Amino acid sequence: MKQLNGEMLLLARKKRRMTQSELADASGVAQAKISRVENGTKSDLSFEDASALAVSLEFPIGFFYEQEPLYRRPISVHGAAFRKKSAVSVKDQDAAIASANHYALQVRRLLQAVDLDSQYLLPQFEVADPRVAVDGEANSVDSAAEAARRIRAGWQTGDGPLINLVRYVEACGVVVVFSDFGAAAIDGLTLRPAGLKPIILLNRNRPADRIRFSLAHEFGHVVLHPYPYEEMEKEANEFAAELLMPKSGVAADLKRPLSLAYLGKLKLKWHTAMSALIFRAKSLGFINPDQATILFKQMSKCGYRMREPEEFDVPHEKTKLISDLLDVHLKDLGYTIQELSDAMRTNADEFSLMHNLDFSPSVARPKLRVVASN
Ligand SMILES: [Zn+2]
Repeated sequence: MKQLNGEMLLLARKKRRMTQSELADASGVAQAKISRVENGTKSDLSFEDASALAVSLEFPIGFFYEQEPLYRRPISVHGAAFRKKSAVSVKDQDAAIASANHYALQVRRLLQAVDLDSQYLLPQFEVADPRVAVDGEANSVDSAAEAARRIRAGWQTGDGPLINLVRYVEACGVVVVFSDFGAAAIDGLTLRPAGLKPIILLNRNRPADRIRFSLAHEFGHVVLHPYPYEEMEKEANEFAAELLMPKSGVAADLKRPLSLAYLGKLKLKWHTAMSALIFRAKSLGFINPDQATILFKQMSKCGYRMREPEEFDVPHEKTKLISDLLDVHLKDLGYTIQELSDAMRTNADEFSLMHNLDFSPSVARPKLRVVASN
């Protein structure tokens, strides 16, 4: 019998937003036992206790015996990877991180049947500290914006709008997931799971232009920040702005007089928020801070800071990498959703929700199909 893995129990409990004592109450398993299993000082939980925990947490019992390498935190510890860290509760952060680990575990398993060939390399850059001499290292850049320019050069995209950002990021082997964070004010996070390329989770309930900026920001962390440091959020934003609105491409558009109607048109062209375009015009020096303030005040007055006008909405991008991995299993290898979720040690309805699959137990295909015989 394999040992119960306390990290899997921790992941499941965090994903369900339960405290140890809430889980103890719900399952009837003493909190002292739960605590010891989670911190690894006890692994000999009785089958009855493990079953009770599985029922309370709505995970198949097999989940807790998986010996997966887990990373508990995203690249930036203490929640700094969250752009609005102050507004996000610890419980929400933990649930999002647990969810990212849950996806990582499934991706690792899905990749066992597939050889992934990435179209583009996933380069790593380092913003050089001008106080420290760097002897011409290939990956050293003067700024985060330069890293974005080099990424664009590698992708051979020119300096126009980058409409399919998800596809380019996925073509580097990075898994992108549109996730449901519920009411939590989280835009996105990046996880670097052991032995896998990074996984980026984005809040699927945000407007498309905001999701795109979050993706560009998180991809900035991926290529610039193997470990956290103070300047990382500023750099990720600078990277995102240059990746989505490269100075050489957007300059001609932003040098003209900016009105809200004109910004709406630019939004439809660049697929970036009107507010992001104002910030960009300001940071590139095409408008001064007072002009930017006036534009933001006009936006506020119309309620556009809360919700930009619908007529300028841009379409949501779609992920492909993870759905291709699922297709290999569901179509080529003939798994049913039930079988595949069993293999992932996840309940079929939760698995379907995680991947936007159409599954309801009442219409699930039977495992045994009737085969006509001659
Ligand atoms: Zn960040």
